[in-house]
Amino acid sequence: MTVLVSGATGFIAQYIVNDLLKQNYKVIGTVRSQEKADKLKKHFGNNPNLALELVADIAAPNAFDSVFKKYGADIKVVLHTASPVSINTKEYEKDLLIPAVNGTKNILEAIKKYAAKSVERVVVTSSCAAVVDTSNQGDGSVVYTEESWNPATWESCQVNGISAYCGSKKLAEAAAWDFVRENRNVVKFQLSTVNPIYVFGPQLFDEEVKDRLSSSCELINALVRGKPEAQYLQGMRGNYIDVRDVSRAHLAAFQKEQAIGKRLILSNGPFTYQDLEDIVNEDFPQLKGKILVGNPGSGKDIHKTMPTIDNSKTREILGYPFKSLKETVDDTAAQILKKDGKL
Ligand code: NDP
Repeated sequence: MTVLVSGATGFIAQYIVNDLLKQNYKVIGTVRSQEKADKLKKHFGNNPNLALELVADIAAPNAFDSVFKKYGADIKVVLHTASPVSINTKEYEKDLLIPAVNGTKNILEAIKKYAAKSVERVVVTSSCAAVVDTSNQGDGSVVYTEESWNPATWESCQVNGISAYCGSKKLAEAAAWDFVRENRNVVKFQLSTVNPIYVFGPQLFDEEVKDRLSSSCELINALVRGKPEAQYLQGMRGNYIDVRDVSRAHLAAFQKEQAIGKRLILSNGPFTYQDLEDIVNEDFPQLKGKILVGNPGSGKDIHKTMPTIDNSKTREILGYPFKSLKETVDDTAAQILKKDGKL
């Protein structure tokens, strides 16, 4: 069976591709340039079951048409992971909203045009950013579930990079559900979304450990490498999930009947920056005196002041336990230290 994965170079998508290949799927990945395609192909040992196609910009009109024209009815499953994650922009529409929303619409429109009767399942990588309302951040009485939606609109989310990113994920996910409703009699596929919170975990390939890591992993990278900006993260808090559990959920999302029409909220509980400091200091004594220590053990009190994510429906559908904070942080930190010759 052939699975199309958009944004195959991504941190999460590399694991998805790896898991798919391990389960003997044929994988078509879209990447932004030939150079990135060559590098990724090499990483995967030139696996003959992996084909890579260029989609330079998911937001360009008809961005995915050539891929569907080429492979047509072969594609049975589409995993749309590509979306901009950079929050360091002031061009909210150009850099976040338009690529996220139009990228999602483009891939769904391409299915409609070229594979309406052959694509059976579509999984859109959304985010908990599409679920939570960041204005409730300090309210411990708030509970989010698979039914919760970030109230952001196209206009209201254009405040800063974070709000625009959250808005981009909410609006892109909403566009996918709208598409299915509006095209129910035209397309065959069933939709599921995967909505992860902060994703930690090692890079699939050690070579991908750069000075700066993308999105959530940079929180751990800044701490482990004793970067000055770690100071400013001291009050930081959120919920976490390991990248390997996120990848696994993408496969379950199209393999399981129970996942049809569902939003799978991926979170294994709260963390504070203090918790990260405690784990790294305890488990990597070679960093003693070189990284932040904070006020050990004080993170737990803050958990009570944070909204709860109740994803019991998702856990029931997925049926596997998520990796603990200690495991995901340790594995992330160990890979960074290995790269720096400090393990
Ligand atoms: P990455 O930045 O590693 O991956 C993003 C992927 O999207 C890359 O392949 C990137 O290509 C591609 N991409 C971005 N913009 C475009 C564009 N305009 N045209 C073509 N391709 C594009 O991030 P993650 O792996 O962390 O994120 C993957 C998905 O998971 C995203 O949808 C993100 O919103 C979501 N997510 C991530 C979380 C996290 O904590 N990491 C949490 C919740 C959701 P290139 O490699 O060339 O830049």
